[in-house]
Amino acid sequence: IPVNPFDLVLFGATGDLAQRKILPGLYHRFEVGQMPEDACIIGTARSDMDSDAFRDQIRASMKEFAPQFKKDVLDRFLKRVSYVSVDVMGDKGWSELAKSLRPDVVRAFYLSVGPNLFSNIAQRLDENGLATPDSRIVVEKPFGHDLASAKSLNEGLRACFKEHQIYRIDHYLGKETVQNLMALRFANSLFEPLWNSNHIDHVQITVAETVGVEGRGAYYDQSGAMRDMIQNHLVQLLCMTAMEPPSKFAPNSVRDEKVKVIEALEPVEPKDIARGQYRAEHGDDGYVDHVGNPSSRTESFIALKVHLGNWRWAGVPFYLRTGKRLRARESEIAVYFRDPPHTIFPNVGPLRGNVLVIRLQPDEGITLRTTIKDPGPGGFRLSDVALDMSFADALGADTRAPDAYERLVMDVIRGDQTLFMRGDEAEAAWAWVDPIIQGWEERGDRPARYDQGSSGPEEALMLLHRDGRRWRQIG
Ligand code: NAD
Repeated sequence: IPVNPFDLVLFGATGDLAQRKILPGLYHRFEVGQMPEDACIIGTARSDMDSDAFRDQIRASMKEFAPQFKKDVLDRFLKRVSYVSVDVMGDKGWSELAKSLRPDVVRAFYLSVGPNLFSNIAQRLDENGLATPDSRIVVEKPFGHDLASAKSLNEGLRACFKEHQIYRIDHYLGKETVQNLMALRFANSLFEPLWNSNHIDHVQITVAETVGVEGRGAYYDQSGAMRDMIQNHLVQLLCMTAMEPPSKFAPNSVRDEKVKVIEALEPVEPKDIARGQYRAEHGDDGYVDHVGNPSSRTESFIALKVHLGNWRWAGVPFYLRTGKRLRARESEIAVYFRDPPHTIFPNVGPLRGNVLVIRLQPDEGITLRTTIKDPGPGGFRLSDVALDMSFADALGADTRAPDAYERLVMDVIRGDQTLFMRGDEAEAAWAWVDPIIQGWEERGDRPARYDQGSSGPEEALMLLHRDGRRWRQIG
């Protein structure tokens, strides 16, 4: 369904995220006809260049990041793109930018820049009369470094924009499977009656990356996996898994339920935290080399055992883990149902419970592990099979799976905030994260070392072994 005509101002348009994800995403929406022919994208950044040079930069990025583009469509798309050089800390460029905007179309400002610039840009947009009561402002992660900075970001944005105009991106929420988790839970009668501590034993949420922190070392060493991944992406996945059914599929109904989940997160004890740092090996640099800080205590891996203090989830551990330089790039939510209470089958040992795996990457899909009879006449044996719904199969092998950013940018234009974090949600997540970080800083804890290409430090394995459980294998 095409969206209404819009002007999208992209701050940080020459940056990595804009060139790798946002602009190719907009191109794809244009190619399928969702972005109207008269929509305008105005790139801005500090660099002095004209619109033609900017279009050339996009052409080069498309070759690298979306090489399947159609040349004639790209030419038409680029006619909708222009560039204005704006120094967001100074006065340069603002009046030219104002002149390039049309009064009667949806107006969106996408801040693909560091959070230190958010409040400043919001203020300049306001002062220069660019922000209208209906325009939207989109901000990237990280939304703050702690609760205090998140509050001050919220204040800075809300000084110029109302909450219904502010779109805080967490691109995990734009992933097809994450939305499908809501459909699975709330559009079927099969799962919801079982979705509680009576039937669910535990939940594992994993976001494993193979990349290290090279190139982002300076930022990352100030942040670490808890701030960079848990506070936003993993907490969001936890919310989608654990929230109560909202009364309707509407932005505030969904976000009200997510905030309740975050507020139910209990403090985490030190014994339920395993932090790690990948070590140097086989001539490969380790974490401390990548960040240029030999005495760094920042974690590139973290695993946590988390509890929600509410009626539905009492006693059900949620194990979260994320890390860099691990064996495979994999993100998933695995919901472990309780084992059957009794087996009628002789000589098979205890039966294992069903596991519902919601896979976010690499290939999005949902699998349900079930037990069936081993086919054939050779006796009554049981074996595991996966009821598998891979989206690549469902879409057809030739269909490109849309990127999360495509969905989210179109939602901004439509004015649908369902898949964006609300200000109180971001603050609630920091309010849970801050004391955990403060705890290990005060104790002077050091992260354990782990091998590159492994599934993290021994301590993380022990977190589950202690409870008589095992992590799902990475890779
Ligand atoms: P980047 O450093 O590659 O690009 C930053 C952009 O901001 C450039 O276009 C630069 O010209 C512009 N800029 C910086 N200072 C400016 C100023 N004073 N005036 C005008 N323009 C200015 O950064 P990036 O990787 O594209 O990331 C942008 C934001 O998105 C950051 O907040 C980052 O944390 C977030 N983010 C990035 C990724 C990613 O994959 N790159 C993923 C998630 C979130």
